[in-house]
Amino acid sequence: MSLDRFGRNINYLRISLTDKCNLRCVYCMPEDMTFRPRQELLQDEELYRLVRIFAELGFVKFRFTGGEPTVRSNVVEIVRRTAETPGVRQVAMTTNGLLLDKLAQPLAEAGLQRVNISIDTINPEKFQTLTRWGEVEEVWAGIHAAQAAGIEIKLNAVVVRNYNDKEDVVDLARLTLFQHWQVRFIEMMPFGDVADFQQSGIVPEAELRATIAESLGPLELVDNGRLDGEARLYRLQEGIGNLGFISSVTQPFCASCTRARLTADGRLRLCLLREKEVNLMDPLRNGASDEQLKAIIEEGVWWKPWGHKLDQEVIPLNRVMSEIGG
Ligand code: SAM
Ligand code: SF4
Repeated sequence: MSLDRFGRNINYLRISLTDKCNLRCVYCMPEDMTFRPRQELLQDEELYRLVRIFAELGFVKFRFTGGEPTVRSNVVEIVRRTAETPGVRQVAMTTNGLLLDKLAQPLAEAGLQRVNISIDTINPEKFQTLTRWGEVEEVWAGIHAAQAAGIEIKLNAVVVRNYNDKEDVVDLARLTLFQHWQVRFIEMMPFGDVADFQQSGIVPEAELRATIAESLGPLELVDNGRLDGEARLYRLQEGIGNLGFISSVTQPFCASCTRARLTADGRLRLCLLREKEVNLMDPLRNGASDEQLKAIIEEGVWWKPWGHKLDQEVIPLNRVMSEIGG
């Protein structure tokens, strides 16, 4: 078990497989983003070794993210090796879904149990504006392929004022009348040099719920408001799926946080919204033993920060979202 100094059991690792992406969402990265050279990223064997070490330290849940995790050419093999690692109970992925049409079935066979697919609007033109060039039909093909492959699906939408905060949110919420999916609305978070845009475009959860209720009727709180991961769940009266609200900025869930993140360049990031990171790459490449790496990870976890300090204007500047993975 990996405990931090506040008694939280940190057992969920989100691994960024690459900082590269086949989209350029406006809230995530600048259009002219430069990516890290391949040799600076964790290589396959380095990754497998770290997965084994984290599992031996009591991590049970692993989620692959990016950039876009499916652009890493051997993503299926990475999922398989992770799912086979003793101690690993759940393997999940967060993806923009563009390549899932072909990959969903092999990923499911390799052991992928859950997928969060990002779709900020079902309107093709607006989808293009938000992603800078994405085709929403390709995401739908990915969603259907994941469903056919038997992978549990959640949909993620980041809400940006004046882009998708009105009818788009209602359209997405309406999907839960016909599908058992969880449709989750994510409050935009500020990072690096896109922070000004992100802060001015944030839409509070209460406003979103009111917009949805106005068109689709009242929202009922699910499970007395108990968080499902980071999401507070609601249901439309006739709904078969759930609506989730992830309000990391205005209603942080730090007390129940069990997460750590491994960036594609081998840094252990203890809180999404804080710059503190522990360099695992250098010891890994300089011959550290498993025991030495475990000690470095345990020390890092122990000092995991409590939460963000956005209200004190402390904004993480050292990376943008695509370099951390969400
Ligand atoms: N490319 C994959 C995708 O888009 O799902 C995985 C990586 S992406 C960084 C992970 C999640 O973070 C996505 O759901 C994305 O919409 C969300 N995200 C990106 N930038 C964000 C921001 N500034 N605030 C909140 N969520 C953000
Ligand atoms: Fe790529 Fe995901 Fe960032 Fe969009 S949110 S640019 S799909 S990493």
